[in-house]
Amino acid sequence: MSPRKCLDCGAALRGRSDKKFCSDQCRNNYNNTINREANSLVRNVHSVLRRNRKVLCELYESGKKRIHKDALLVSEFNINFFTHSVETEKDRLVTRYCYEYGYRIMDSEYLLLVKNTDLLEV
Ligand SMILES: [Zn+2]
Repeated sequence: MSPRKCLDCGAALRGRSDKKFCSDQCRNNYNNTINREANSLVRNVHSVLRRNRKVLCELYESGKKRIHKDALLVSEFNINFFTHSVETEKDRLVTRYCYEYGYRIMDSEYLLLVKNTDLLEV
């Protein structure tokens, strides 16, 4: 069996078999790196969702309710990201939300913009 190595700096480990780091500094460094990557991912996703919300908000507040789906094919909108989706029981129409603003997929061409402030009461 090859000697165990510190997960952070790669130095050979001595002592307890469950030891993963050679020092507290290496353990902190390793955990900080992992947290930094996770935080950065969360930040990036959050920024996409915020941008999507802004696009939906501006369309909705401008008074438009029924829009062609191409209206969302603007550079700052990413259709792969939304916070949650709701399907109507009766006609199975899906509404995708970015926070309180959403779009209901009416057919292959048109979307209905919606705002759901019920979320604010959670
Ligand atoms: Zn180390």
